[in-house]
Amino acid sequence: MRQSLPKESNILEVEKKWQSKWEEMGTYRFDWNDLERPVFSIDTPPPYTSGEFHIGLVLNWTYFDVVARYKRMRGYNVHFPQGWDCHGLPVEVVVEKANKIKKTDVPPDQFRKLCMQLVEKNIEDMKKSIMRLGCSIDWSTEYRTMNPDYWRRTQLSYILLYNKGFIYRGKHPVNWCPRCETAIADAEVEYDTRNAELHYIKFKLEEGGFLEIATTRPELIPACVTVAVNPNDERYAQYVGKSIQVPTTDRMVKIIADEMVDPKFGTGAVMICTYGDKADVKTVIKHDLPVIMCIDDKGRMTQSTGKYAGMKSEEAKKAMLADLKGQGLVDKAEPLTQEVSLCWRCRTPIEILEREQWFMKTRILTDDVEKNALEITWYPDYMKHRLIDWAKSLEWDWVISRQRVFATPIPIWYCNNCNEIILAKPEWVPIDPRTEKPKIAKCPKCGSKDFRPERDVLDTWFDSSITCAVHAGWPDRKDWHRLFPASMHPSGVDIIRTWAYYLMVRSLALFNEKPYQSCLINGMVLGTDGREMHKHLGNYVASLEVMSKYGADATRQWATAGGATGSDIPFRWPDVEYGWRFLIKLWNASRFVNDLIADFEMNDKGEYALQPLDKWILSKAERLTKKVTDALERCQFSIAIEETRNFAWHVFCDCYIEAVKDRLYKPEHYGEEKRKAAQYTLYTVLYRILQLLAPITPHVTEEIYQIMYADDKGSKSINLSPWPALDEKLIDEETEKHGDLIVAVIHEIRREKSEKHMPLNAPIRKLKTYAGSKDFAKIIAEGKEDICGTCKIEDFEVLSKKGDGREVANYGDVHFVMEC
Ligand SMILES: [Zn+2]
Ligand SMILES: [Zn+2]
Repeated sequence: MRQSLPKESNILEVEKKWQSKWEEMGTYRFDWNDLERPVFSIDTPPPYTSGEFHIGLVLNWTYFDVVARYKRMRGYNVHFPQGWDCHGLPVEVVVEKANKIKKTDVPPDQFRKLCMQLVEKNIEDMKKSIMRLGCSIDWSTEYRTMNPDYWRRTQLSYILLYNKGFIYRGKHPVNWCPRCETAIADAEVEYDTRNAELHYIKFKLEEGGFLEIATTRPELIPACVTVAVNPNDERYAQYVGKSIQVPTTDRMVKIIADEMVDPKFGTGAVMICTYGDKADVKTVIKHDLPVIMCIDDKGRMTQSTGKYAGMKSEEAKKAMLADLKGQGLVDKAEPLTQEVSLCWRCRTPIEILEREQWFMKTRILTDDVEKNALEITWYPDYMKHRLIDWAKSLEWDWVISRQRVFATPIPIWYCNNCNEIILAKPEWVPIDPRTEKPKIAKCPKCGSKDFRPERDVLDTWFDSSITCAVHAGWPDRKDWHRLFPASMHPSGVDIIRTWAYYLMVRSLALFNEKPYQSCLINGMVLGTDGREMHKHLGNYVASLEVMSKYGADATRQWATAGGATGSDIPFRWPDVEYGWRFLIKLWNASRFVNDLIADFEMNDKGEYALQPLDKWILSKAERLTKKVTDALERCQFSIAIEETRNFAWHVFCDCYIEAVKDRLYKPEHYGEEKRKAAQYTLYTVLYRILQLLAPITPHVTEEIYQIMYADDKGSKSINLSPWPALDEKLIDEETEKHGDLIVAVIHEIRREKSEKHMPLNAPIRKLKTYAGSKDFAKIIAEGKEDICGTCKIEDFEVLSKKGDGREVANYGDVHFVMEC
């Protein structure tokens, strides 16, 4: 005898109960000792420890948790690790603001400690959310990129890449955030449009007269190294090669011709400064022009600007314009909207400065990136172009050094005497050159014992772009290739250019191998109004608010049902509420089925006197299994959830259960065999529904499984039960057609009753059916028992001719006349 299901299910409590039980039982541990099952490894993103596990991350984590759960049921030994990406600017910025300090105001150790405290607290909050979402993570794998053990791996990868010639130090223009006082990579630059003013300024020609140029940044005039015009611009052809004076200075520069100049912008003559933008960088390199750095690390004008030195650029702009006006050199100003480059973290406009930095050679790998991107399976497929296009668009190598504190140190020292670079040996790491000396007696080149540390640190992407290898156990486990390349790398559409790209180039450079075999891309979560989600737009939803109100299983239904994989999806409360109502429906239906099958036991032969409707739903359940399996194989989660919910709610609950109730209640009328057949069908189909739902709604399905099925089925969790093996011979088109017609007749009779305000269980004295054809008459006659039982018909007549009466929806030839 089975346990009964409680009448009311407290879904939220059930979820929490299973979350801690799974953890106690070690349900989701990866088994290194299991050499039988195939391995499936997920390259879980270590989320940036901002402190909030926002709704966008809920979408990501739901996606790959569904994959993990599905793969386990398919018999894989699933490796689903979880780490935390701790370092970097955002944490430093918060610490600076909270303590009202700048990174340089306190000793690095102290600043680092403040950062670590904040990160630990943030991790605690974020971990709660991931657990609340019910992710089947193997928590024994947890790691932090700020810990020495991870430093060791990041630094080792640096040393290996250095020795392979992929890392170099170079003086090169870099994107620079004057607020954060650090170089940032192309991938960290964001773009926005702002209103600006285009100033028309007169430059004096050496031979007399003026040339007018237009610029939005007159404060850069002291760094003007040439004036350029388009070679096809006839207005200026005569001036090319002539000298022109840089206003407010006594410097003369040559006028050059370059196709990059747009003759339609401003006056068609532009000044090239070092540096106003990336176009300036190109022109300077192409024409081998000198560099005058006019802005410093803090965004102030340098000594080379003369009287403007020390001013912020906005001040310098005003002062410069006043001076130019005084000399009568300003013609006019026009409003202009222009695209500006911003620091991704603090949204300060970036400057382009020339700085000595560490770089990783990435552009030489572009062909290789493309080749591997094409070999990888992408969900959805078109996303591969995002990676390829990005790789091809890069003009600069990856600047990997940062002028910050809270990051992995670069394992480098310099000889103070001869400037020799001392690279750490692999066995020295983890090491912090800022506090530790190199483990050598003297400089190998000059014998000096005087060293200075590299104070720059590594870009945080340099930490997180080796996760595939670290998850696999590199460099400590000899068998790390069991998990490498990762089976699946999940990524948001917004971080393909960073995470997916950096992983790829690093892995190709380090191991000469791709890091992942497939890439699962999720879109962005939009606000409740369909716009980008922002706190200040009032369309913001906190993930914990959703989960504490409706729990994980409802939230996960929203995430999976929200839209096609890879597309942006809005957050919609009604979707979560629908998911919640579905869980209640599933619970109530299971409870009802459980009561109906209380005395049911599988017979030895597994053979039952299946009736047309039993065969009908068994065939449909099999067809559903095929659809859901196909969908999950292709990471089309929305199809999997929608198909299963529709089947469970409308086919199983609304049609089948209703149609067999009478058979179950009255064995004396139908016979015990037919009752057992209905019990068997209910038992089998409900189990199938639970299994197909388990990857998406793991908690409620687990609770029902444990009460109704665990003893029979033997798996310790539904999440570890074997995925239903498809039995194609159970799919029978004819059977389904017959059942569809019988169900349609039942429905129509019930509709007629309710329109006549009759109770559904009110008897019908006589029902005459005009089937319209012999075939239909035969089918309806086959379903006679279920039709009469469900609709309480005393006298049921089926005629094959056409006739009048109420038409059965979707079956225009079938009519019936009801006599009460
Ligand atoms: Zn910044
Ligand atoms: Zn030396």
